[in-house]
Amino acid sequence: MSDRRQDLHLFIPGPASVTPEVLEAMAHPITPHYGDDFVAAYNRCIDCMQQIFMTENDLFLLVGPGTAAADAALTSALPDGARALVLTNGFFGDRFVEMCQMNRAETEKMEFAPGEPIDADRVADRLAQGPAFDAVVWVHHETSMGVLNPVEPIAKAARKHGALSIVDAVSSIGGTEMRVDDWGVDLCVTVGNKCLATPPGIAAISVSDAAWDAIDRNDNTRGWYLDLRVWRKYRQDWPIWHPYPTTVPTGVLYALRAGLEQLMADGLEQRIARTAEAAQAVRHGLRQVGFEMFVDDAWASPITTAVKAHPMVPADVLLGYLLKTHNMHLSGGIGPMHGKIFRVGHMGQAIERDEVELLLHAIEEGLRLHGAEIPVGASLEGIWPEVAV
Ligand SMILES: *Cc1c(COP(=O)(O)O)cnc(C)c1O
Repeated sequence: MSDRRQDLHLFIPGPASVTPEVLEAMAHPITPHYGDDFVAAYNRCIDCMQQIFMTENDLFLLVGPGTAAADAALTSALPDGARALVLTNGFFGDRFVEMCQMNRAETEKMEFAPGEPIDADRVADRLAQGPAFDAVVWVHHETSMGVLNPVEPIAKAARKHGALSIVDAVSSIGGTEMRVDDWGVDLCVTVGNKCLATPPGIAAISVSDAAWDAIDRNDNTRGWYLDLRVWRKYRQDWPIWHPYPTTVPTGVLYALRAGLEQLMADGLEQRIARTAEAAQAVRHGLRQVGFEMFVDDAWASPITTAVKAHPMVPADVLLGYLLKTHNMHLSGGIGPMHGKIFRVGHMGQAIERDEVELLLHAIEEGLRLHGAEIPVGASLEGIWPEVAV
């Protein structure tokens, strides 16, 4: 196992690094994915997820990426020709447009400027104009831009106008607040390998009563595995033995449970505060060595920091240096943002203070190698608040 690099540093916005405890849980011998012990672990994950989603709605754990859960929401709740209003300010919002179209919804795209959040007032105005939409669909944290979008005012406007709210919280849940019940989100999806800091492979979806009404009215059937009615039926018919329709990757589920237990023990609020602290420190530190942030502080995401390329060192060159010399993965810009920005993820081990300091030191070094005159440690000055969170 010579390439099991323990010194790998993930500063990307997913997948996140996991703790040794989570890694060890993943190495659990293969067991049956049914029966008392395994179902207890599965149910414990659901219980933790409901606390993290801040919901009493039904919640399912699907085997697959976050996108599988998003597809489950769309395919279950939107019959052919349903009217979907998709709000987008980046790559994942644009993907939602395509996903709604391919799920045969009549899709209207509402675009917002790159680097800026979705404007909830404009959305409310559009909904008030009619004709009525069946669903409003958007991304909470637009990972491609490092922008946090509003949820509550849009979900409330959607409800007022009789539309479901369908939210991709893939990269936000566990790293920033998401109050599914208080804010009235009907279908909310996330995945284990972002801010929950567990391995890839399992996604979660919460389903409100209003969403179930729409799902039960949907008389189109397009497939089986992602139809939430199938998931509900297995939970009803086989609750003790096998409350899901298919095989579950047992090691991944045990690792998910270990990671969620750690989150519960640390406290969700605490985890969220530490994520925000890491983002603040990185923004502050990078500004001290000549970087400009791509996103205004007012709506910058605490989970991904998007940084404009340094005037002296192209983004590709800096990222290549960090990877080759320090084993640190950062992300470039996607699509039209390529070369213009790079992105630092604040999840998993990357929210630890010593990791943030390592990163800033390495970036300084990279800049110096390319001719910038920066005293050692310049980026670290005053990056932490006096009182530790
Ligand atoms: C990472 C990400 C996705 C894709 O997640 P998968 O698990 O690869 O499907 C979708 N939406 C957002 C906002 C993301 O950050």
